[in-house]
Amino acid sequence: MSEQFDVIVIGGGPAGYHAAIRAAQLGLKTACVDAALGKDGKPALGGTCLRVGCIPSKALLDSSRQFWNMGHLFAQHGISFEKPAIDVGKMVARKDAIVKQFTGGIAALFKANKVTAYAGFGQLQPGKVVKVKQHDGSEVELAGKNIILAAGSDSIELPFAKYGEHIIDNVGALDLQEVPKRLGVIGAGVIGLELGSVWKRLGAEVTILEGLPDFLAAADAEVSKVAAREFKKQGLDIKLGCKVSNTEVKADGVHVSYTDAKGAAQELVVDKLLVAVGRRAATKGLLAEGTGVQLNERGQVVVDEHCHTGAEGVWAVGDCVRGPMLAHKGFEEGIAVAELIAGLPGHVNYDTLPNVIYTEPEIAWVGKTEEQLKAEGIPYKAGSFPFAAVGRAVAMAEPAGFVKVLAHAETDRVLGMHLVGANVSELVHEGVLTMEFSGAADDLARICHAHPSLSEAVHDAAMAVDKRAIHKVN
Ligand code: NAD
Repeated sequence: MSEQFDVIVIGGGPAGYHAAIRAAQLGLKTACVDAALGKDGKPALGGTCLRVGCIPSKALLDSSRQFWNMGHLFAQHGISFEKPAIDVGKMVARKDAIVKQFTGGIAALFKANKVTAYAGFGQLQPGKVVKVKQHDGSEVELAGKNIILAAGSDSIELPFAKYGEHIIDNVGALDLQEVPKRLGVIGAGVIGLELGSVWKRLGAEVTILEGLPDFLAAADAEVSKVAAREFKKQGLDIKLGCKVSNTEVKADGVHVSYTDAKGAAQELVVDKLLVAVGRRAATKGLLAEGTGVQLNERGQVVVDEHCHTGAEGVWAVGDCVRGPMLAHKGFEEGIAVAELIAGLPGHVNYDTLPNVIYTEPEIAWVGKTEEQLKAEGIPYKAGSFPFAAVGRAVAMAEPAGFVKVLAHAETDRVLGMHLVGANVSELVHEGVLTMEFSGAADDLARICHAHPSLSEAVHDAAMAVDKRAIHKVN
């Protein structure tokens, strides 16, 4: 007889563990099935985000930032020392310890909230039964009144660049044991820029080949322009409009054949090649025949705006469904579905999801870009303010970048906020909050911001919407 649950979640990543904990908080008997193992071979909850994504990359970004600053920033402060050195093994071990702390933290939260964790691969059967193939080869069957599919995503592999020792994805790039002399990256997206930055700061020569002709096409064009300029200054070589056609691992490195933006055939030779061309829904083997759940042509679980699959009592959230592959989008969907199951009005506002790229300077935005507003014919006003005019940013020796607030030309309602600069991963939430409360640029302008703080750039940008910024000529 299968064990009965009110809710069974397949996948213990950001979307799945939020769904499971919230369901348990609401008094529902909940199980969560996850197949992942940590580096120690033991079950590790937390998904891509905690094991091989957001958290470990931030650990390495922070280590490499400190190292880079020693060579590039400290002298300005009058600090000098013998040549800086980096112990890559120690840096990676620190990252692993952080991962272990946080994956273990989810296990502890499950225990405290009485979520039953099953370690193994879960497959949905017809009739809301989940078959779990456990790591020792045994199988258990669980029956749920509600099922939440939260299977996550995997790196896309290019057919001519199979992963191995020299050609790596995000997982490999987080675990290099020494700094590669030459690192090639395919894809100037979020992973390419973040992990390319890590190894560049530690001394690698980094060349990024991007297929599209525009840099960071999803971001506001002014933000992309400033970011591209800063990355160039750091020595990141980003080549746009490149079509990679082949790779070959030879004794002297990985040979990457591509045509450049002018159509000329080129070859790049690198010691390691990071492929970061996007991710796809990890739905292979997730569904047995006859569940009534549909996958689309991209392998994503088809859901409506409430994350319902159309099969009675079956929901899906996070990277395995439509929408941006962001951990925090998964968090919100997981919570919303648990609340809907419990009869509460769960809801996700997809218009106010913040985007952040943790480069140096950081890039962040919420809402529409100027390009989108123009294309949609929405009348708007823009106010921007540079960090170079913010006392705190200059005192921190972080003057690069700006904040831009976009507001409706007639109602003044904030439609977007675009930022590039120090700590903008935190500042963007002023835009998120304002938009969530349907606030106006004038509301932001009339809120007292601490001086001196980086947030003054947001304040002055909001004032600049009506040409009344104090610290610049409007
Ligand atoms: P991405 O979609 O951000 O970027 C992929 C890039 O590769 C794009 O610029 C694309 O044009 C380019 N590309 C695709 N095919 C190519 C080819 N054949 N040759 C050259 N360029 C090619 O994907 P990613 O960087 O792999 O990240 C995967 C997902 O993980 C994304 O959805 C991302 O949002 C998410 N993620 C988010 C964060 C964050 O929020 N900070 C961090 C890491 C990953």
